Amino acid sequence: MLRELLDARRGEDLDLWARSINPQFVRVLRTIDFDRTWARAEGAYLFDEDGKRYLDMLGGFGMYNVGRNNPRVRAALVEALELETPGMLAMGTTLLPGLLAEQLIELAGGRIERCLFTSTGTEAVEAALKLGRAATKRERVISCEHGFHGLTLGALSANGCPEFTDRFQPLLPGFAQVPFGDLGALEAELRREDVAIFLVEPIQGKGVHLPPDGYLQGAQELCRRYGTLFAVDEVQTGFGRTGRMFAFEHWGLEPDLVPVAKSLSGGYVPVGGLLMSRAVHEAVFDSMEHAVSHGSTFAPNELGMAAGLATLQELRDRRLVEESARLGEKLLKLTRPLVEDFEVASEVRGLGLMWAIEFTEPKSGRTSWRLIERMQKGLFAQLVVVPLFTRHRILTQVAGHNMAVVKVLPPLCLSDEDVEEFAEALHATVKSAQRMPKSLTKFALSAASAGVRR
Ligand code: PMP
Repeated sequence: MLRELLDARRGEDLDLWARSINPQFVRVLRTIDFDRTWARAEGAYLFDEDGKRYLDMLGGFGMYNVGRNNPRVRAALVEALELETPGMLAMGTTLLPGLLAEQLIELAGGRIERCLFTSTGTEAVEAALKLGRAATKRERVISCEHGFHGLTLGALSANGCPEFTDRFQPLLPGFAQVPFGDLGALEAELRREDVAIFLVEPIQGKGVHLPPDGYLQGAQELCRRYGTLFAVDEVQTGFGRTGRMFAFEHWGLEPDLVPVAKSLSGGYVPVGGLLMSRAVHEAVFDSMEHAVSHGSTFAPNELGMAAGLATLQELRDRRLVEESARLGEKLLKLTRPLVEDFEVASEVRGLGLMWAIEFTEPKSGRTSWRLIERMQKGLFAQLVVVPLFTRHRILTQVAGHNMAVVKVLPPLCLSDEDVEEFAEALHATVKSAQRMPKSLTKFALSAASAGVRR
């Protein structure tokens, strides 16, 4: 049925989206020349309708850690369908969720003893906010400036990026942000002893900002001292992204709450979860009357559970977490010299396969920077992202609104050659963008007039 439908309507994707899903998004894709018709995908590669191969350094915003169309995850899904498992019982239990929860708890270690499944990352964050408040009987939530935790109203209230929050005021009361890395500012808030949760990404996704030395350990200590729950958002950094199963392992942390999602199901089925301490769980689910105090119809989803189990197996068997660490080191080694080679490149940073390059105004005047950034902040980074895609067939993204940062979150099954290809293409692209040939001027003008920001 699907095959005939796809054959009959082939090539209509962009028009259909423009008509019925989001015309502004299609306008952005057309302006930046990203308006391909995609035919298929495999591992770290995408193929367009002409069979041209693109290297996917974006990984669906970091949800394809085990690669697109991973055969093991697909086989598990087919098997789950063929087994005709009972599905969601609502008033009953099945085996698959228990098995996945058992593994996640084992992997997280420390204080984590319970798992509440959700369908998305933002829902896992919502659960952390609700349960954390109820468990501590406190109202306030502290998060970080430039932090990102999802776009539903509770998670958005913890969002530290004004470009996401400004138009949706008023948000929930009791939320405040402190600068990422500033323990003094955090302590000033926690000292009031009315803060339920400190919610933090171990590495900030918007811009790929790594924590200063000692920051996360210090934050955990302050949380313990003032009775605040320490919530580490691993939605983006989890499942091997940073070269460890969870990023919090780099700093030996023992969080009370850990939202996860994205890569857990290998990108096939929406699955998220809130990993938490027994203390938090028992404070909320404290009686039979409160046995279903929080949840949602589709969670835990049987197919999601099957995909999750297969994803964890795949990460283990192919040693993808170790690969992420190894390839991440290689990526840094190959790209750090750009800072020496080009005035416009100010920093290359990353951990595992979470990587970014930041650009800044060069001191010498003879570059494109001023012209471009005056037209629109963040446009210079587009001058890198666009030719990487159109000329080198590599998919990347600008790291946030108005940011001079290009970011990558590739599948962890990338090859050494892929990393080398990316580093070479990046070198050529930054070189060209710094000089800004005529073709790029034309693009910059049209992108600026279309107001392209992301
Ligand atoms: N937390 C973090 C750290 C994220 O990066 C994201 C998604 N980018 C979310 C939460 C929200 O996840 P979802 O898009 O699945 O709702």
